[in-house]
Parts: sequence; C-alpha cells; structure tokens
Amino acid sequence: DSADIGLIGLAVMGQNLALNIADHGYTIAVYNRSSEKTGEFMERCRQKEPSGERVLGFTDLKEFTRAIRRPRKIVLLVKAGAPTDRTIESLLPHLEPGDIIVDGGNAHWMDTIRRDRELTAQGFRFIGSGVSGGETGARFGPSLMPGGSPSAWAELEPIWRAIAAKVDPLSGVPMEGAAPGKPVEGGVPCTAYIGPNGAGHYVKMVHNGIEYIDMQLICEAYWLMKQLLGLDSGAIGEIFREWNGGELSSYLIEITGDILGQNDPSGSGFLVDHVLDAAGQKGTGMWTAASALELGAPANSIAEAVFARALSALKEERVEASRSLKGPDVQPISNPAEIIDAVRRALYCSKICAYAQGFQLLSEAQKTYEWTLDFGTIAQLWRGGCIIRARFLQKITDAYTRDPGLKNLMLDPYFKDVLHEGQNQWRQTVAIAVQNGMPVPAFGSALAYFDGYRSASLPANLLQAQRDYFGAHTYERTDQPRGKFFHLDWPTPDRPQTEV
Ligand code: NDP
Repeated sequence: DSADIGLIGLAVMGQNLALNIADHGYTIAVYNRSSEKTGEFMERCRQKEPSGERVLGFTDLKEFTRAIRRPRKIVLLVKAGAPTDRTIESLLPHLEPGDIIVDGGNAHWMDTIRRDRELTAQGFRFIGSGVSGGETGARFGPSLMPGGSPSAWAELEPIWRAIAAKVDPLSGVPMEGAAPGKPVEGGVPCTAYIGPNGAGHYVKMVHNGIEYIDMQLICEAYWLMKQLLGLDSGAIGEIFREWNGGELSSYLIEITGDILGQNDPSGSGFLVDHVLDAAGQKGTGMWTAASALELGAPANSIAEAVFARALSALKEERVEASRSLKGPDVQPISNPAEIIDAVRRALYCSKICAYAQGFQLLSEAQKTYEWTLDFGTIAQLWRGGCIIRARFLQKITDAYTRDPGLKNLMLDPYFKDVLHEGQNQWRQTVAIAVQNGMPVPAFGSALAYFDGYRSASLPANLLQAQRDYFGAHTYERTDQPRGKFFHLDWPTPDRPQTEV
C-alpha cells in the first residue's frame, strides 16, 4: 500500500494526468485494461519522465488495488458510457467500503447521478469530476470540476488543487511555465467543489456548450472579414492577435491568430484555406443544447452553434445547393476599418450573451437537480487550464460577487454598459451579413436573445390565443393576477381539436 492514489485508463488523458500527479510528489499506481498500454507507458516513465519513478504500473487489477493506501482513491479516465460502467464493475470486488472512485471522463451527468446513487448504496464514495484542457491541460494543469461525496472531496482536494491549472491571484491570468517534473508553484488552483452527484459533470458539459458557441462566434467574425472585406487569412490572423490584447483576450482568440497565420506545409498559401469546411462533434454541445430544451432554458445560441456544425457537415449537399439557390450579390465595402471594429464589438456582445445563456442554463439545472451552484466560483475555475479561458471570466466572477442573486449576467452594470455601447455596431454587423447573404447564426441568435430578454412584451400573447383557439390550452390576462387561467369559447365550435 505505497501509492497515494490509483488511476485506470492509460490513453491520452490518463497518461498525462498520472504524470501531472507524480510531478506533484504523489506516488501513483496505474492500470489499463489492455496491458500493452501499461507497458508502453511505464517505458515512457522510465525513459523520459523526471517523475517516472513515482509511477507504479500494474497489469493485474487486484495487485493494483492492493498497492493503494486505504481508503483508496482511484481515478478513472476511460471512455465515457458503458466502458466506465464495465470498469467500475471490474473494480468493485477489489474495493472496501469507504473507498473513493473518481470518474474524470466526459460522463453524461445523469450517468453520474446514477453511479453516485448505486455506489453510495454499496458503501463506496464517488466523485464525478469534469476534466478540461485536453492533453496539455491534463499534463500541466487542467480545470477540474468535481461533484459528489463531500467527504470524498475533502480527501481528494489536496491532490486536485495541486494538479489543477493555476492563475495569478491578482490578475486572474493563467500562470504558464510548467514543464515535466517542474510544476508551477503558488497561484490560485482552478478547482473547487461544485455540488452533489452530477453537478461537476453538468458544469463541465455547459463549459463545452459555451466552447461550441465561443468557437462559432470567432468563425463568423473570421468569415465576415474574409467574405465581406476580402482580407486574406494572414491579415485576419493579425487582427485576432490585436484583439487578443484587449477585452476579448482568451485562449481561443489567441490560437485563432496562430492558426490563421499558419502557412500550408505544401507551400501554397495558408493552411486554414485548405481545411475542409465540414465540422465534427463529439456530443457534449448536443447534450448542453438538449438539456436546455428539456429544462426550457433559452440557450438559443448554444443550440445554434451545434446546428451550425451540423449544417457545415452537409458539405456535398451544400455544394450542390449553391449551384441552384441564389442569394444577393456581395456589395463592395467602402469603410473596412469601421466594419472590422463593428465585428469586434459584435463578437464581444454576442460572447456576453452566450455566457449569460450558459449561466441561465446552470441556474435552471440547479433547481431541477437540487444543487446550489456558486456561479462566481464556476467562472473562476474556467480562467485557466480549459479551452474557454478568457480574461473576461474575471468580470463574471466580479459580477456574481457584487450580486450573488444576479438573475442574468446582462443585468450586471459592467456587462450592461458593454451591451449598450456595442449594440449599434452589433446590429450593423448582423444587418450587413444578412443583406449580403452571409449566415451568422451565432451573432444573430445572440442578438435575438438580447432583444428578447430586454422586451417587456413579446408576441406570445397571440401564441397563447392560438393555443387556446385550437387546443383549449387557456391563457392568462394582462389585467388579472398571474396563475389565473381563462378560456374563450371561440366562435367556431365545429373545428376539430388538436394538441400542441
Ligand atoms: P479514450 O476516451 O479513447 O478512452 C480510452 C480508455 O478507455 C483506454 O484506457 C481503454 O482501454 C478504455 N476503454 C475503452 N473501451 C473500454 C471498455 N469497453 N471497457 C473498459 N475500458 C475501455 O481516452 P482519452 O484519454 O481520450 O479520454 C479519457 C476520458 O477523458 C474520456 O471519457 C474522455 O471523454 C475524457 N476527456 C478527454 C479529453 C481529450 O481531450 N481527449 C478531454 C477531456 C475529457 P484499452 O486501452 O484497453 O482499450
């Protein structure tokens, strides 16, 4: 029992997280279903990794569990879904009551709720922890979003805090410079207890949903500058680099600048111009949008970002349609500098709406799943390690610190001012895109969210009347208290009744 912790699953994430844990002075036992991977990884530890001697490899599950100090802490980084259940099943005969299983995979939060219930009933303790930041994050500091047993968290917390990404306590900027065997010292760790059962995995999922819309918004900004202004990729990359020095500063803007400036290895032009425009997806964006639909949370831009990928994937169909469906001719632009600035404003305003939608979704979810989420802390966890790390997350934390009961981010004084100041250019950007036949589902849906949310009246009065007319679904009246329902015997008694 010489290991502080164990880890199962030695693919990309597991190997790198294990080395991160070892870098911080912990002894870690590792196991993988197919033993070749364990052998290869142990070879890597011996040959190349300064902390490799603190990694103990096992090809037998029983010996692996015996090597871990009790109560055991065992991290799973295996394929989400059935493989996670199979791994837990194989592990349980070797565990004792009080042992802790930590699922670091991209589990669906309902699976995490179920596993928490089942394992707790058997006397084990369970943590479902979102792990964000891909390979590099896992190796040098991910954003970690744990949920589950509070007593298990108390035992896991020192390790999770040690290995998480760190941000500067004053500026909130990620601290760089970690290297194998040389982790970053000091700083505020990007991890905190999120809530019971599936709360951590839910928050990780919403992070991914926000990542989808963040990326789509950047793509629309790029597309407008390319299609409307005729700028080449390198020039647009320069613009993103400049934007990264301001309020938009974030990992995604930074890498976009790098990506756009990258020459093609063939020597002809920029790489991005040779990449096929058909997007893939692994499902967490879809889960976020589906959850929003289920909970009735208006996360329209997050859903649009998922649909935008789906539409892009119909490449052959689009190419064929482009030959028969005609749009307007693109009008020449006489004021490119003004348009570039308008696009920047549109991007920032839309981004605020996207995050507002993400937090509104979290707010609905916590009611349904009986969690108490701390939004300011959640925004802090995303400042480092993960894909959406952005300077403006500090503004979100500030907003929830000022007013923990804030109903919507857009109502915070800072964000309200940005939206008020930027909305004319945001509208100009959407209008010019629409006039020229360029799809901007993310910019447009974010603007519709803003305009819808700030409208005291919406045409849902007519909608309710329609529902009452054909389905007797009843309506409330503006001159009567809420909760009092009316039905009119509409003067068409013979009309067949249908449901909506
Ligand atoms: P994979 O998702 O490719 O999973 C590979 C691991 O799962 C291997 O250890 C494999 O064992 C095991 N496995 C696969 N099928 C089964 C099965 N039927 N029964 C038991 N074990 C099985 O690896 P990644 O490192 O990419 O990801 C690990 C987890 O982390 C996943 O849940 C992923 O969603 C999540 N994640 C991944 C990120 C990334 O950037 N890759 C980012 C954040 C989270 P074997 O070698 O024997 O096949």
